[in-house]
Amino acid sequence: MDLQSIKALFLDMDGVLWHGKDPIGNLPLIFNKIQKAGVIPLFGTNNSTRTPEDYRDHLAKLGVEIEPEQVITPAVGAANLFMKDFSINARIHIFGSRALKEYLQNAGFSLVDEKADIVLVSLDKEMTYQKVAVAMKLINEGARFYATNLDNVLISENGWIPGGGVMVNAVQTCTGVSPIIIGKPNTIMMKIACQKTDLKPAEILAVGDRYDTDILGGLRAGCRTALVLSGVDSIESIAAYSEQPDMICQDLNTITDQLLADRSR
Ligand SMILES: [Mg+2]
Repeated sequence: MDLQSIKALFLDMDGVLWHGKDPIGNLPLIFNKIQKAGVIPLFGTNNSTRTPEDYRDHLAKLGVEIEPEQVITPAVGAANLFMKDFSINARIHIFGSRALKEYLQNAGFSLVDEKADIVLVSLDKEMTYQKVAVAMKLINEGARFYATNLDNVLISENGWIPGGGVMVNAVQTCTGVSPIIIGKPNTIMMKIACQKTDLKPAEILAVGDRYDTDILGGLRAGCRTALVLSGVDSIESIAAYSEQPDMICQDLNTITDQLLADRSR
């Protein structure tokens, strides 16, 4: 695929930029090349355990300077969606991380444990039976059920760990209700990327290590897509899908090399 028409990257992070604490490749060099190519890096993750500011700080420690506005987390997607489907007065119950609560509270929403309009479920490393019970009660009372993502597992520096899909499944099992998904493969986050950059989906290359979230989301949004082999999926694991990504690359470094090469042609 020719990358000359690409004006922005929509980068997944876990499995693309790092495995847990370990960066994948020389990130400062990779981002230098992206800058040299004149391409805007945006970050889109289904991971809801960090705020955009947390990601800025984390990337700074790895030698990459970015602005929090370049980061689109499920919390950013949720705030956007809840404003559209409800209003700033929506009462939200969160069964999820501190970062998710912090972001939605700072966005102006009220977080509640009763009489909720919305129950939002995501990865909660302090999951308890009681939290599942509260979410169940509120949904049974009429709150609408949203989930940041259905990722069943995540890769960390210690190998595979349970993902947010585990908490979502617990609530789904006891309520019989399927959630509305905010994260990839839903296109909400990609649409925000288009709005932020004023670009058409076809001018954005969605880069990720998972077919069922990153690539499928990119395809649905009308973006160009690149699967990197530095994380979850492999050529074999995606072979059965009829719609293939535009490119399959070893890692992000390979893509940035091609970005630069296609621009100097
Ligand atoms: Mg990933």
